[in-house]
Amino acid sequence: MSTIPKRSFDTLIIGAGGGGLRAALQLSQADARVAVVSKVFPTRSHTVAAQGGVNAALANVVPDNWHWHMFDTVKGSDYLGDQDAIEYMCRAAPRVVYELEHFGVPFSRLDTGRIYQRAFGGQSRNFGGEQAARTCAAADRTGHAILHSLYQQNIRAKTHFFDEYFAIDLIKDQDGYFLGALAIEIASGEPILIEAKTTLIATGGAGQLFRTNTNALVNTGDGMAMALRAGMPLQDMEFFQFHPTGIAGKGMLITEGVRGEGGYLLNADGERFMERYAPNAKDLASRDVVSRAIATEVREGRGVGPNKDHVLLKLDHLGADIVKKRLPGIRDTVMTFLHIDPAETPIPVFPTAHYTMGGIPTDRFGQVVIPEQQGAEEPVPGLYSVGECACVSVHGANRLGGNSLLDILVFGRAAANHIIDHLSEQRYHRPIPEGATDVAMQRLTRWNRQGKGESVPGLRRELAKVMEDHCSVFRNEEVLQQGKDKMLEIRARIRDAYIDDHSKVFNTARIEAMELENLVEIGVATVTSALARTESRGAHSRIDYPERDDAKWMRHSLFSLDGDKMDYKPVRIKPLTVDSFPPKKRTY
Ligand SMILES: Cc1cc2nc3c(=O)[nH]c(=O)nc-3n(C[C@H](O)[C@H](O)[C@H](O)COP(=O)(O)OP(=O)(O)OC[C@H]3O[C@@H](n4cnc5c(N)ncnc54)[C@H](O)[C@@H]3O)c2cc1C
Repeated sequence: MSTIPKRSFDTLIIGAGGGGLRAALQLSQADARVAVVSKVFPTRSHTVAAQGGVNAALANVVPDNWHWHMFDTVKGSDYLGDQDAIEYMCRAAPRVVYELEHFGVPFSRLDTGRIYQRAFGGQSRNFGGEQAARTCAAADRTGHAILHSLYQQNIRAKTHFFDEYFAIDLIKDQDGYFLGALAIEIASGEPILIEAKTTLIATGGAGQLFRTNTNALVNTGDGMAMALRAGMPLQDMEFFQFHPTGIAGKGMLITEGVRGEGGYLLNADGERFMERYAPNAKDLASRDVVSRAIATEVREGRGVGPNKDHVLLKLDHLGADIVKKRLPGIRDTVMTFLHIDPAETPIPVFPTAHYTMGGIPTDRFGQVVIPEQQGAEEPVPGLYSVGECACVSVHGANRLGGNSLLDILVFGRAAANHIIDHLSEQRYHRPIPEGATDVAMQRLTRWNRQGKGESVPGLRRELAKVMEDHCSVFRNEEVLQQGKDKMLEIRARIRDAYIDDHSKVFNTARIEAMELENLVEIGVATVTSALARTESRGAHSRIDYPERDDAKWMRHSLFSLDGDKMDYKPVRIKPLTVDSFPPKKRTY
């Protein structure tokens, strides 16, 4: 162990997406020594792919305010979101958007010169009856603009980057204090111990669980799996968002902004079918509602194409000018992958796995929390998490489009502010005990074993197929139970997996093997949580339990690795006052 090189920082941030970089910037500007570790070059993090925009009640287009944003988010979450966190996020939204503007994000503009805002799914009509337009956009490349601006600001603030380093596991002492992480430099294959007084996990989502998804290849849930192995539970993992409009059969995302600009869905009969499922919001209903509608149309034989397996997204009526000005990115994607121009021909679409609502439980300061007696929670000293890997929980059972970029910015900033206070009381690093890195090192060296057995890419393909077949838009007990059995079998078979390449330099086979180990734990957490929840809420739709059951299930799930056990904790709801939002039937 003594031979592993060590670097010391005040704060270690694992992940250089928008969540990690917003936190890093706040910390570096406060003169903390910050290390950011990322397995890909920072600006290749999945945040770069975000298209449609970021929500804030700026009221630049129609009257709006944060209460309406909060109401839409609570309703969108199917009443599973924690309302203190949602209130905090919606109130902070305008400020973080203006900060972005000052960091250099080139937002699209209205004729008045103000930031352009478009309508997005789940945004209700305001008191004047006008459709809300709350999503601030830089054309349809908002995440790209945000991530590049944040990276440049971090370079200016002298944040220390470990580019293309893979974090293997968290390191802690016997008293439960987190001391940093063991990582490996991908280029050299050399391990390194990064010691820190505080550690922030910002490793993004786990969309690679599913065969058809919109996510980057790197979104393998590493940070969530690290938290599980370190004894933390994962919260609300049964809620996985399927985006209604992925390119059929391929999965690439077509932003909700297309429908925000006036595009709509058609079935094989040329019918605008969303009018039947959501008479008011139509194509701009929440994502879970639209995904179920498309899946139902296809299941009932009204799908388009020779296999009747998709529907059409029509936007040719918008005119080529709007498409080129407001949606240039999706036009590029469609022309590249389908060889059609969406300004002239409708796009074949079908729901695709998109966003991990569950994750590492935190409070609204980004502190990781573990359950105590009687529903109380205890923060874990020095451990933080923000972004898609965390569950704060502002999205509850279904996230609204445009609220994730907001979530990563608001809570990245809030966690950093909390860390700055924490650091003022923590002058020294706690000692690293002998043998503290042994278990993490074994995860690495285990892949040096020679032999023949199961193949890593083969198991990964199987895993993604099991998730798609057994834990998709519609679920029931039998299908989920089979899915769980298959996941447990894959978990067991990994023990017998080998890789052929044992070289050190850029050995991506070893990285993929460790990613598979992470994915399988997230997969087990997801199907186990889904099997246990016998109701339908948000993205978790059980054919055998079609109704929402607030009496029994208005509570968060907690999955722990120790015995694959389920536990539950209450949802935080605002006490009944004039501006509280008690649970109601959710219609759009
Ligand atoms: C195609 C697409 C479009 C989207 N559009 C929108 C939108 O318009 N509006 C919206 O609000 N949301 C959108 N979302 C969702 C939103 O973009 C993401 O939820 C959000 O950007 C996640 O940010 P993050 O910082 O949590 O993680 P990410 O941006 O995913 O970054 C994760 C980071 O963790 C690092 N990492 C992971 N594991 C390790 C490891 N083991 N070791 C070292 N580093 C590691 C990665 O290298 C990366 O730097 C979209 C998502 C997708 C996929």
